Amino acid sequence: MYLIPFHLLFPDLAQTETRSLTLFEQAGIPADKYGLVESYCPDPTCDCQRVMLNVFANHQEKQAATINYGFNRASKDAGPFLDPFNPQSPYAPALMKVIARHLESDAAYVLRLKAHYALVKSAAANPNHPAQKILIPWRQKADKAYAQDEQLAPLREAEQLLQQFGKTLEQSPPKKRRPSRKK
Ligand SMILES: [Zn+2]
Repeated sequence: MYLIPFHLLFPDLAQTETRSLTLFEQAGIPADKYGLVESYCPDPTCDCQRVMLNVFANHQEKQAATINYGFNRASKDAGPFLDPFNPQSPYAPALMKVIARHLESDAAYVLRLKAHYALVKSAAANPNHPAQKILIPWRQKADKAYAQDEQLAPLREAEQLLQQFGKTLEQSPPKKRRPSRKK
């Protein structure tokens, strides 16, 4: 199933509710501010209960990792795991460990992700929702790419949009003190 960047559907909410982690240099991870930019599956009939976190490194200006995370913790493929079809950096495995700890330790953040997931699904299920203006052409483009056997094309387009959004997240130099966890 194709995904859609959350900020395309809910730009204001994404701007205020996208988590960033400011990290020291550690375990091969460069000091930077890492934005956890979200994408969700907009199929209203699909109960996948997942978020894709596109981890954008603000100062390096690149996608440092792409992490799949399932809300159903009982599921064997809940993750988090590095997504095989999306960009990863050499230090993505180390970064994923840091983010996995963050997800485990911050229940409020996980609740926020679940709320965003629910918003996307309810917008997708409602033909009168204003987000349909974005969803319909997005779906058509994805369907067309799939029909032409270009499954990765929608991913590549989403990647560009996610990076553009990552760049708009608040810029601040990495702190020298202990890493701050919240935005
Ligand atoms: Zn799904």
